[in-house]
Amino acid sequence: MTPTPPAPACEHYLPVLDTARARFKLWGVRGSTPTPGARFLRTGGNTSCMTVESGDEMFIFDAGSGIRELGLALIAGPPRRVHLFVTHTHWDHIQGFPFFAPAYRAGFEIVIYGAEGFGKDLKSVFQGQLDREYFPVQMADMHARLEFRNLSANPTPAGSAQVAWEFAQHPGATVGYKICIAGKKVAWVPDNEFLLGYTGSPREITRDHPRALPYERMIDFLSDADVVIHEGQYTPEEYVHKVGWGHSSVANACVLMKLAGVPRWVVTHHDPHHEDTFLEAKLNLTRQILRQIDHPIHVSHGYDGRTELF
Ligand SMILES: [Zn+2]
Ligand SMILES: [Zn+2]
Repeated sequence: MTPTPPAPACEHYLPVLDTARARFKLWGVRGSTPTPGARFLRTGGNTSCMTVESGDEMFIFDAGSGIRELGLALIAGPPRRVHLFVTHTHWDHIQGFPFFAPAYRAGFEIVIYGAEGFGKDLKSVFQGQLDREYFPVQMADMHARLEFRNLSANPTPAGSAQVAWEFAQHPGATVGYKICIAGKKVAWVPDNEFLLGYTGSPREITRDHPRALPYERMIDFLSDADVVIHEGQYTPEEYVHKVGWGHSSVANACVLMKLAGVPRWVVTHHDPHHEDTFLEAKLNLTRQILRQIDHPIHVSHGYDGRTELF
């Protein structure tokens, strides 16, 4: 019996990922406080941190505990200049900075931006969390070149990017950012209590509804973003008990996405009580609400390590 001849060679389609493209990466998606442990494994437990990279430029948004892992990745390469934009100085947005290894390395340059109007200036807040009462190492031991800048121009130029900012509804001077780079606009608004105090139906809220009017600037700010990374921390049920805490009910966040015409929403700043199985149900609820308000956009949950190329 003669063996069957091999099939004629055919062309295989073997695409190779173009890793040189611009990207964003989420290093920390947890709100309020880190959540280690098995119940949080899928989503991750690090607090707020995101990077946007294009070419050899890196822009960091917030310095929650996720920035520690980023620092380890950075010191594996040669010293470089990075831009760090801080939305506000609550713990979950700065607590990783003392563990950010590049800060201790000569040759790194870290330009840190934040809004004016904090009780203390940005540098004092960063220095304060390194006080001997809280931490064994001081800012003087950080050998990188640290430069603190108040946000003034809007957008603020940083390298080849333009970074626009807008005040969010959150205790203290808190901003959201929108970086325009490589032809894309990515917004990072982890803390924002849209429609403060509203617990009614999201179908009721139109652009000219009195409840929405105070938020016109934020709605406009997000209206040209390609992707918006924004919170929706509480279920409507939870929000009834947490009005004024600085975070949106997921129903109100859905309304913001609709009024701003956002095409793609990545939910971040997950509540520390929300374990993976709960978040799964909450994401399905989010999709249901978006359908009910006739804005069935692409929505997904951020998780630690999530990377997207533009
Ligand atoms: Zn926060
Ligand atoms: Zn906060």
